[in-house]
Amino acid sequence: MEKVQHTKECIMCFSAIDSRAKKCPQCTSLQAKYSNLENNPIIIGALVLSIVGIFGFIFYQNIYVAGLKDQAQKNLIANVSQINTKNENDALYVACIGQVKNESDFSFKNIKFKVDFLTDQNTLVDTLSITD
Ligand SMILES: [Zn+2]
Repeated sequence: MEKVQHTKECIMCFSAIDSRAKKCPQCTSLQAKYSNLENNPIIIGALVLSIVGIFGFIFYQNIYVAGLKDQAQKNLIANVSQINTKNENDALYVACIGQVKNESDFSFKNIKFKVDFLTDQNTLVDTLSITD
């Protein structure tokens, strides 16, 4: 009895190969349905998910969080309730006591204070940044 040769087409190079072949002898491509990366829905899915994730994160950081911060910043309430002064060594010390209220859910990570010295006409005379 003669053995019947069944052939199939290679999924990559389309040459006729033995139907039982798991690897093409011509181009060495694996013949299983999802063995080549470009045909693998799991790898493609993972790639798409990570790209969506990266863009989602960028969107979240730059648009959503920045929007929350901007809104929280606009709604800050500054209130000076008391001003104390004293003269020491020929210098005037002014203490402004009050609060900066943040009623939003956004928490600021880094807050610095700046003092502007203005004349009666609101002209800036001097400025002082208070850094930690
Ligand atoms: Zn092939």
